Amino acid sequence: MLGISDEIIKLSKEVETEIKDEIEKIDKLCFDNTLKVLEAFQKEKISDSHFGSTTGYGYGDVGRRAIENVFSYVLDAEDSLVRSQFISGSHALNVCLFALLRPGDILLSISGKPYDTLEEVIGIRENKSSLKSFGIKYEQIDLIDNDFDYKKIEETLKSKKIKVIEIQRSKGYSTRKSITMDKMEKVISFIKKINKEVIIMVDNCYCEFVSTNSPLSIGADVIVGSLIKNLGGGIAPNGAYISGRKDLVELAAERLTLPGEGAEVGPTLGINKSLLQGIYFAPSVVASSLKTAIFASRLLEKMGYDVEPKYNDVRADIVQNIIFGSEEGLVKFCQGIQSGSAIDSFVTPIPDDMPGYMDKVIMASGSFTQGSSIELSCDGPVREPYIAYLQGGLTYGYGKLGIMRAASNLRGNK
Ligand SMILES: *Cc1c(COP(=O)(O)O)cnc(C)c1O
Repeated sequence: MLGISDEIIKLSKEVETEIKDEIEKIDKLCFDNTLKVLEAFQKEKISDSHFGSTTGYGYGDVGRRAIENVFSYVLDAEDSLVRSQFISGSHALNVCLFALLRPGDILLSISGKPYDTLEEVIGIRENKSSLKSFGIKYEQIDLIDNDFDYKKIEETLKSKKIKVIEIQRSKGYSTRKSITMDKMEKVISFIKKINKEVIIMVDNCYCEFVSTNSPLSIGADVIVGSLIKNLGGGIAPNGAYISGRKDLVELAAERLTLPGEGAEVGPTLGINKSLLQGIYFAPSVVASSLKTAIFASRLLEKMGYDVEPKYNDVRADIVQNIIFGSEEGLVKFCQGIQSGSAIDSFVTPIPDDMPGYMDKVIMASGSFTQGSSIELSCDGPVREPYIAYLQGGLTYGYGKLGIMRAASNLRGNK
């Protein structure tokens, strides 16, 4: 069936038994997050009237405001900006950074090099429109042994006037681990004890609903994420959010649109219902992604590959790494994921150049929404140690079948 070999079917049955306890934990997590979303909908009195649409300037869009309130409740935020005018998560991160920083300010990353697409935004790689070109300085403190470098953070905060600290929770295309909420809580309270004024901005991509709380409930000031990842639930057609302190969200709104109009404008063009359905489904879709990741982690480990995280590790995000050590393994696995998809299963992805990325990247994404990575998808830059970054799965069944197909492809099963 579907090019899945007997060997993989047999192995999968063993995996199912071994991961039972982990799957149960995910069901509990899903229930808790579902409860929170339902509370948000009821508190906001969501009704048919919120599914309406605006065009042009988008004045007085009641659905848009209601969606933003639902997000605020779910993310423990004072306020939120949830807009389809954000092209992607990277765009929202860009808007947020430009909103918070002024010439002469210093931006500090304490989780090492930020996500690839931010390199030109910050000016780590030359760009005429970067933060650097506006005289905004950048400093970086790398993680040590997958944890924050507390000593360097303290020294830097005490010797320099840092305006914004950026923390990227998910690993991006790096070899480090993603940052769990425990580690987040510890470092945020450490920072706030030294300097209450510094703005803590969190790149929360891939992390929503992987725990029951948000970085905002443990002291972060503003968080950013994409709607074609976790909180879009596989339904949102595009967009991103910025949530957190009211004054900071307002600054972001005035940067996304214009000073004086801010969040008051922005036509929703008929997507309100999709965004609401998206966040409604999100706890369950994130749970399916986590189950898919756990299944993949154990299966690939049993097949002899290095995986991170292990199936029973505490997870910070929905991303599963499989370290192939060779281009061939990475490419075959991604091609297998593609051929196990419902959409574009007949297409063969190959490594190619991508705007915003340094190395050639291979991307498997047989998705309803272009580039959606809450749907089963797998990608990775073609560089040592050839890591596949696997994520998504709208349902566990489709996720599991995709993994089984990819595993069979690795074994040479067409
Ligand atoms: C996905 C992601 C982003 C944003 O990527 P887009 O493709 O622009 O939405 C930013 N940071 C991290 C860590 C991510 O995983």
